[in-house]
Amino acid sequence: MRKILLVLLLGLVTLTLNAQHQYEIDLNKIDKDILPVKMTLSKPPKSDQITYSFPATVPGTYDTQDFGRFVISLVAKTADGKNLTVKKLGNNSFLISAAKKLKHLEYTVEDIMDKKVKKNHIFEPVATNFVEGKHFLFNNGGIFGFFEGEEADPIEIKIAKPTQLYGATSLPQTVNTSVQQNFKAKSYHQLIDSPIMFSVPDTAQFYVGKTKVTISVYDVNGVPRAKHFYEVLKRDMAAVDAFLPDLPVDNYTFLIYVDDFEEIGNAMSGKMGLIQKVKLALRLKNIGLGALEHGNSSTYYLADFGSGLADVKEVSLDNQLSGAAIHEFMHILTPLGLHSERIGNFNYTNPLMSKHLWLYEGVTEYFANLIKYKGGVISPDEYLKEMESKLVQGLDFPVTEMSFTEMSEKVLEEKFHKQYGQVYMRGAVLGMLLDAEIQRLTLGKKSLIDVLLVLNSRYGEDKSFQEETFISELVNEVHPDLQNFFTLYVEGKNQWKPNDQLNYLGIKYHDTFQESSMLSPFNSKDNDITLKSIGLGFEQEVKKTGPNEWAGLKAGDIINLNDYRNAVEPNGQKLKEGETAKLKVKRNNEFITLDVVVKYGLKEKKNVLRWEEKK
Ligand SMILES: [Zn+2]
Repeated sequence: MRKILLVLLLGLVTLTLNAQHQYEIDLNKIDKDILPVKMTLSKPPKSDQITYSFPATVPGTYDTQDFGRFVISLVAKTADGKNLTVKKLGNNSFLISAAKKLKHLEYTVEDIMDKKVKKNHIFEPVATNFVEGKHFLFNNGGIFGFFEGEEADPIEIKIAKPTQLYGATSLPQTVNTSVQQNFKAKSYHQLIDSPIMFSVPDTAQFYVGKTKVTISVYDVNGVPRAKHFYEVLKRDMAAVDAFLPDLPVDNYTFLIYVDDFEEIGNAMSGKMGLIQKVKLALRLKNIGLGALEHGNSSTYYLADFGSGLADVKEVSLDNQLSGAAIHEFMHILTPLGLHSERIGNFNYTNPLMSKHLWLYEGVTEYFANLIKYKGGVISPDEYLKEMESKLVQGLDFPVTEMSFTEMSEKVLEEKFHKQYGQVYMRGAVLGMLLDAEIQRLTLGKKSLIDVLLVLNSRYGEDKSFQEETFISELVNEVHPDLQNFFTLYVEGKNQWKPNDQLNYLGIKYHDTFQESSMLSPFNSKDNDITLKSIGLGFEQEVKKTGPNEWAGLKAGDIINLNDYRNAVEPNGQKLKEGETAKLKVKRNNEFITLDVVVKYGLKEKKNVLRWEEKK
C-alpha cells in the first residue's frame, strides 16, 4: 500500500509541476550586470499571437516603473530551437507570432539600481541589484514577465547559485541545497509580492507571538548588522503585537539592504536641522531611501552615513529602520488585507489607481505612530510632536484644488503625483482625526482599529471591497454622522477643523500658541546677531553683533549647530533657565569654550498640538 501511495503521490507532484511555467536562472552566469533568464512554457499557447509583458507598475508603489526597459534581448523559441518573430510594443510588452509553437523564452535583464535612470526613476526598494558573487536583489517585476490573462497561474523558479549566497524570501521553497534554490509561486501576483534577496547570510530569527520573523541583511561593506537590527525590530514588533489582537501572518521576512552613504555624511559637516538637508541631498542624487511592503515581507533600502553623522539620531540606521518597519508591517492590515478591486485584480499594464490612499497609506502611517506611542517606543509628547509636524506639512496640501480621494485616484498624473508625499502627512492626520471621530461618535465604544479589523476579516487578502461603496460600508460600522467627516475632509475640498475631533481624545489644536522656550544665541530673533551659513548650513559664521548680544559671541566666530545642541541638551535633557551651557566656538581658528547662561522667553508658535489632559 505504501508503495502505491508513493507512486500516486509522485504522479501528482509531476502533474502539478507540469502545469507551471518554469524559469531557470544561474547566478554564476552574471556578466557585467546582465543576467540570462530562460523560461519554459507549461503548455502551448492557445492563440497564435500572444503578448509577454513586464509590469508598468506594481502594487504599493503608486508610481511608474516600466520594468520592460531593463529587458535587453528577448528571443522566443520552438521546442526544436527555431526562433519565432518577436516585436517589442512600447516599454514593456513583446508580441510573439506563430505562438502556438512557442516552447521557450530566452532573455537577459540588466539590474536597475546602479543605472542612471532619469525618467521614471525606480524607487530603490522596488528595484533590482546584481553584484557578482555578493548580492542579488530580485524585485520580481524586474526579472519575470507574464502572459496577459495568465496572471493567476502558478510559476516555478529554479535558481542555481554560488555556494556562499543564500536567497531569503517568503516564497515557499521546493529545493534548498548549497548550489540550488527552487521556489514556487501560486500566481504571478504572489511572485511580484515576494522579493528574494541573495546575499552572504547575515540573518536573525525570532518569534513574536506565533509569528516567525526573519531578518536578512546585506551591507555593501560587509558590516554584520542582523543581530543589532534584531534588537530594534524585536522592540517594534512587540509594540505591534500589543496593539493587534493577533499578528495576522505565520511568518514575516525583513529584507534589508544597507548602502554606503559616507560621502554624503561627510559632506554634511554640521549636524542640526539635518533631516531637511538629507532629504535635499538625496533628492539631488535622485535616490530613494525607504521601504516597500508585501504580504509576508518588506524590503528596505537604508543609508549608512558613516561616522560623521554617527550621533545624529534622526538619520541613524536604527531610526531609518524603525521609522519604516512598523509602517510596512501594518500594511498587512491594509492594503494587503483590505483593498478595492483595483488592487485585488491589479492591472500591471494599464493600472487603475484606487481613491483610497487615505486608508492604505494615511491610516497605516497614523497607526505606525500610534503603535510606537502606545507601545512605549516614543513618549506621549514625542507622539504629538510627530503628528504636529505632519499637520503642519499637511497644511501645504492644495485642499481647495483637489480632494484627497481625487489625488489618490489620479496619482500617476504629474500634477497629482507631486502631492503623493502628503499621504504620510495630511493622510496620517486624517487617520488620526478619523480615529478620534469614531471614538467620539461611539462614546469610546469603538476606535478605528476595531472597525478596520472587522472589515479586514470580512474581506482579507483574496477578496476586494467595492471602490465606490467602501466609505459608506465603513460608516455603517460606526454611526451615520461619520459620513460628514468623509464628505467634508476626505472626498471634499474643505480644510480640517482638528478640534472638532481631537478634543474628544484630550488633545487640543492651537492656531497660535504662546510658550516659554529656550532662547537660542544663534537665532537672530533671540539674540542681537547676524549669521551666515557655511557650506550646507550646519556651520554658521557670526557676521555682526549688536549692543544686545547676550551670549558672548563676536563677529568672525564660527559655530556648529550640533555643538550647540550638545551644549544645551547634555544627556538629552534641556538645561533650565539660569544654568550654564558650555559652548564650543571657533575663534581665530582656535576652539574656545564660552560659558553661556541659559535664557528662556515667551515665543509664539503656529499650528500646535498639545495634550489637554495629562496622559
Ligand atoms: Zn506605506
